[in-house]
Amino acid sequence: MPASDPGGGPPALPARPATPAGPAGPGVAGPAAATCRGVAVDYRVAAGVVHAVRDADADFPTGRLSVLAGPSGSGKSSLLRALAGLQRPSAGRIVVGGVPVTRLRPGGRRRLRRRTMGVVLQDPSDNLLDYLRAREQVELAAQLRGASPDGTAALLAALGLSHRTESFPDELSGGEQQRVAFAAAAIGDPTLLLADEPTAQLDLAAGATLVEAMRTLVDRGATLVVASHDPAVIEAADHVVTLEDGEVQPS
Ligand code: ADP
Ligand code: MG
Repeated sequence: MPASDPGGGPPALPARPATPAGPAGPGVAGPAAATCRGVAVDYRVAAGVVHAVRDADADFPTGRLSVLAGPSGSGKSSLLRALAGLQRPSAGRIVVGGVPVTRLRPGGRRRLRRRTMGVVLQDPSDNLLDYLRAREQVELAAQLRGASPDGTAALLAALGLSHRTESFPDELSGGEQQRVAFAAAAIGDPTLLLADEPTAQLDLAAGATLVEAMRTLVDRGATLVVASHDPAVIEAADHVVTLEDGEVQPS
């Protein structure tokens, strides 16, 4: 089927650059892209301390789709934000792409995130800029990552958003906003793509399109860590890390 055929679902993603993300090549797990050792995330609240993540050890292999699973309140978002360097753990060590995130100052974490990570947070309003169109959001993300914006249209198309490229966030549904955010996170082949409940606001068909896009990215060499309790996402995973009450469960 020609690439321009409008039937048969979203078009394929653009070709990935020749250099694969993982040293072992696309789709082949190399050393872990990210590791957590003894990670704890605590929140101080009026009533005391919430231990959201406790002594977590986890490896997220290069070139794989890893899912952080577990019930609501189990610590998935807290661990994902810690991996992204958005939240400093109370204890433990996190390494992403060989860089010890937990030893960096906030500015260093910001630079590392901008250059090497794509992040989609759970709340759409945390991911997009009000005053940019969908296409511009993705192009800006590419620019900040020092990457070419050339794949923008294809990425938006693969996520079922060809008809929304010129829309501003307030003209998009929550699910559409999350898919734009996903495209912005994925453009330019970041070392690590982190997404928090990316299918939560999507209907079944849009969720399936996103899962397919995630699999395609991984098959081309990307490393994804997705926090989700969506069975369709867990089903598509290569590797599942399950949290319960802040603790990583034995696999
Ligand atoms: P999940 O993403 O699995 O639902 P979270 O990481 O959001 O889990 O939350 C884990 C625990 O930490 C929950 O008990 C939640 O109420 C608590 N928590 C999360 N964020 C905060 C915060 N900013 N302040 C206080 N408690 C929080
Ligand atoms: Mg969460």
